[in-house]
Amino acid sequence: KEELNMIQGALELRTKTVEDVMTPLSNCFMISSDAILDFNTMSEIMESGYTRIPVYEGDRANIMDILYVQDLAFVDPDDCTALKTITKFYNHPVHVVFHDTKLDTMLEEFKQGKSHLAIVQKVNNEGEGDPFYEVLGLVTLEDVIEEIIKSEILDE
Ligand code: ADP
Repeated sequence: KEELNMIQGALELRTKTVEDVMTPLSNCFMISSDAILDFNTMSEIMESGYTRIPVYEGDRANIMDILYVQDLAFVDPDDCTALKTITKFYNHPVHVVFHDTKLDTMLEEFKQGKSHLAIVQKVNNEGEGDPFYEVLGLVTLEDVIEEIIKSEILDE
């Protein structure tokens, strides 16, 4: 029964898209690029429980960087370091994919290594104005794996 479910899930990787399994932008835990890494901010980051945190500038849809929780290992909250100092130092690439990327393609990209988190965007050409890139959310390797095994992975 469970095996059948997994086979079903694996087959669906070819038809389902990252948009189907992503975490929508409104639910993403993110941090503003002008944040100061004081005790409060660092506690919030730790309490969120996420290992990768998108960094936005101004608007939440404007993601410029990714902060890894491990980047904070040598940060002393008493120093009130600017987040920008840290993101500039590590300068992790922001991996962006289109919303209609199929899960099998996404899995291949994740397997290439680099980052196991990608920002999902689409070209928005609704409305009067010029088309623009719209950020919809984020997708991680875990979201794709969950689709295969068809059950929620409970985080530790
Ligand atoms: P983590 O290592 O941070 O626990 P995972 O890659 O295991 O992240 O993903 C677990 C779930 O959390 C996935 O559904 C993913 O989309 C979501 N997720 C990952 N990072 C964030 C974030 N910064 N804000 C909101 N959801 C996130």
